This record gives sequence, structure tokens and C-alpha cells, in this order.
Amino acid sequence: MDVSSLDPDRFRISPGDAPGLADRPTRADDLLGPDDEDAKATAEALNEELSERIGDLQERLWATKAAKVLVVLQGMDTSGKDSTTRRVFGAGSPLGIAVKGFGRPTEEELAHGYLWRVHRHTPADGEIVIFNRSHYEDVLVVRVDDLVPEGRWRRRYGHIVDFERMLADEGTIILKFMLHISHDEQRERLQERIDNPKKHWKFEHHDLRVRESWGEYMAAYEDAITRTSTEHAPWYVVPSDQKWFRDLVVGRVVVDALERLEMPWPDPEPGIEGLVVE
Ligand code: ADP
Repeated sequence: MDVSSLDPDRFRISPGDAPGLADRPTRADDLLGPDDEDAKATAEALNEELSERIGDLQERLWATKAAKVLVVLQGMDTSGKDSTTRRVFGAGSPLGIAVKGFGRPTEEELAHGYLWRVHRHTPADGEIVIFNRSHYEDVLVVRVDDLVPEGRWRRRYGHIVDFERMLADEGTIILKFMLHISHDEQRERLQERIDNPKKHWKFEHHDLRVRESWGEYMAAYEDAITRTSTEHAPWYVVPSDQKWFRDLVVGRVVVDALERLEMPWPDPEPGIEGLVVE
């Protein structure tokens, strides 16, 4: 495969399919083969075009209010949720794009249903909202760390499908990305956070404890993706060891989704033709 003819749909998980994370590539080389030596340079040029395109499409979305767009980014620590946001959506206007991170819930949030804190941050007409972590933490970390009994988190797959169905029925386009990195790549990236003073702020000892539960997290992701990839809210599992490839896949999926919308520039107010500003 040549990187410029990449079909982003090959990373989409069809409803009911298991992603098979253990055997899914985390690197482009596994897909492109050794022939595409210029893949990185080609992809970086394409990414610049995609970024500009997303900027234009986002302005149109904001002007036309043609839809609400929710982008969910999930992945292990260092998988690149922040940098994907910056690199793929950086050309968008802050007027119509918001990023919402979901960390450990507060007491007030815990006292409510787990979707309570999520729903209020979903996009309004014309907006793109990027979730950096999301309601999926409630079937990931909550499962691995045994924060609620199994029967309770298991029922959440169904709630999440219904919740996302409701959002979609009310005009939200939902795109969910699992940024799939290898265990080895994570080791290098965490080490870099320890060795490079500019990255110290990103490191927490807690990340090492989470890394010890890698296998349990993969099992939790496997089930979550299998049970919640739907026509109305598909999951994409993105090979993310190489940033240029990750950005290309996410960028292509987003551009394809926005280009499917009807977004003609809104009609002018009547009487605008020939008007001269004094
Ligand atoms: P990040 O690590 O993405 O930069 P934060 O440090 O603010 O962001 O918080 C992330 C932490 O919050 C992660 O360890 C994550 O597992 C945890 N977290 C997120 N949602 C929940 C939740 N619903 N229940 C428990 N922990 C959660």
C-alpha cells in the first residue's frame, strides 16, 4: 500500500467485530511494506494539507451549524492524545473547537451518574468538541482498578451505546479513536519524559503503575471497542507508534466525515447585493 492512497476505513471496527488489539499493527511499516521509503515525507506533506482542510471545513461548520461533532480520543499514557489534538485540529478556530479532558472524577461527579459530567460537554450545533479521555474511562480504569463491581461496569456498555445513539439521533457526528501504541514504544516515551526536563511535567509515578497493568487494559479496551463500535459511533483503531501515520489516519477520517456534510455558505441577508459601505 502507498501512503497517499490510504483508505482510513480499514481502521474502522465494524459493529460486533473484535479489534484483536494484540495482533493489530501499531506501526505503519506493517501495512505499507518496505517499498514505501518516502512514506514519512509523503505523509507529512499530506498532513499539512489535511490540517488546512480541517481549518476550512471547521469554519464552514461553524457558519452553517450543519452538525455537532464529537471526537473521542482514548489510548494508553503517551499514546499521543494531546499531540493529535494539536497537530490535527490546530488550524481550527478556537471559536468553534473545544477540548475537554476527563481526569479523576471529583466527589460531586462521583456522586452523580458517570455520564453526568460528560453530557454537559458534548458539542452544540456547529461545534467540534474533542474529548481527551471520556466516558470510556468508566469501563477502562474503572474495570482494571475494580472501582465499581463488575455487574455495574458491564451494564455500562449498553448505556454508552444508547447514550451515543441519542446524541447521534439529535445531530451529533461521533468519531472515536483508540491510539494504539506498542508496549515498547510506551517504554521509550515514558523514559523520554523522565530524561528530558522539558517533559518532566508530563510524568507521574502513577503512569508506571498503570503500565504494569498493560494486559488488563488491553483486555478492557478489547471488550469496550467490541461492544460499542456502532454505525452511529464507530471506533477507529489507529496505529500510533509513528506520529505522522497516526495524524494521517485521524486527519483523513475527520476530513471524510466533514466533507460528507452539506455545508453551503449561508445566504446573505436580503438587500446585500450592490451595497456599498460609506
Ligand atoms: P492525562 O493523564 O490524560 O494527561 P489527567 O492526569 O488529568 O490526564 O487524568 C488522567 C487520569 O484520570 C488517568 O489516570 C485516568 O485513568 C483517570 N480517570 C479518568 N476518568 C476516570 C474515571 N471515570 N474514574 C477514575 N479515574 C479516571
